[in-house]
Amino acid sequence: MEIKKKDIRALSKEQLRDFFVEQGEKAFRGNQVYEWLWQKSAHSFDGMTNVSKETRKMLEDNFVINHIQVDQMQRSSDGTIKNAVRLHDGLVVESVLIPTDTRTTACVSSQVGCSLDCKFCATARLKRMRNLNPDEIYDQVVAIDNESRLYFNRPLSNIVFMGMGEPLMNYNNVLKAIEKITSPEGLGMSPKRIIVSTSGVPKIIKKMADEEVKFGLAVSLHSAIDEVRTSIMPFNATFPLKDLREALEYWYSKTKNRITYEYVIWEGINDTPEAANALVKFCKFAPSKVNLIEYNPIDDGEFQQASNDSVDMYKKILERNGITVTVRRSRGKDIDAACGQLANKK
Ligand code: SAH
Repeated sequence: MEIKKKDIRALSKEQLRDFFVEQGEKAFRGNQVYEWLWQKSAHSFDGMTNVSKETRKMLEDNFVINHIQVDQMQRSSDGTIKNAVRLHDGLVVESVLIPTDTRTTACVSSQVGCSLDCKFCATARLKRMRNLNPDEIYDQVVAIDNESRLYFNRPLSNIVFMGMGEPLMNYNNVLKAIEKITSPEGLGMSPKRIIVSTSGVPKIIKKMADEEVKFGLAVSLHSAIDEVRTSIMPFNATFPLKDLREALEYWYSKTKNRITYEYVIWEGINDTPEAANALVKFCKFAPSKVNLIEYNPIDDGEFQQASNDSVDMYKKILERNGITVTVRRSRGKDIDAACGQLANKK
């Protein structure tokens, strides 16, 4: 019977060094192989030219190198690129490259499907199938960095965890991926250019604060009134606004990082001055920025983007209270690559 080979990319550098020592080789071989696996994104042991043939064979006998595969790439008329990414077990997630004049942002997935049940989000309909491993998150970033160099002649500049899944429900793997992305032995990106977006898991937000993470935090709020929020984001019943707010205050007290809120205004749901004032009240405790994002219809018309007048009304009320506001237009809509549209349609 053939023994199942282990995924070598699940090993830390220390574990890889230990493995070589156990095999009677020098520990630094572990560093060399680690560099091939991460910095050089090697897909096979064959190409590891500074490693002897015998060692390569030994690695081959013990391990596999799992890698994502970009199955399909779609380009939007606005330059946005969506990758359908096949994982080693055949499941598929999506990631998106969003170009502006000066930046390239990667929007990456953290889970296959999602366990949250936001009524307005296409990913919610897939349910959660599994968490992504750190290497599967890292590989999405590498793929987009390569595409950015190829099509825009510049490296990737920013990363947002706003693809499929709830990053804080897969926190350990997301953190490991970010460690590799920011490490000089990985991509060497600054954590300041990374934003993790969450629907709000209070316990994990506090944990991040305690660990004094250096990346940014965005919260998908959409309503600062419990009753309304629970009706559109049912998990709010488990993690009510009071707990979320308390966790965010703790986050701010530890990190002194401004908090970004993502917020869609829907007709008949949260398009009143009362709703806007509740938002002001919720986020006033710390320097905040509110991104008013455009709704991307996913279905039957249960949700409708509010009028421009409602958006202006929010903007005025927020700005009057010293809160920074941006109104964000969607990108990549024609290829279903915009916020909330990732659902493996193809
Ligand atoms: N689970 C994380 C990451 C997903 S991010 C989170 O909730 O933050 C995706 C962002 O797009 C979130 O802010 C989400 O609320 C928003 N979104 C979901 N569906 C959308 C839709 N149909 N139109 C616009 N934004 C949507």
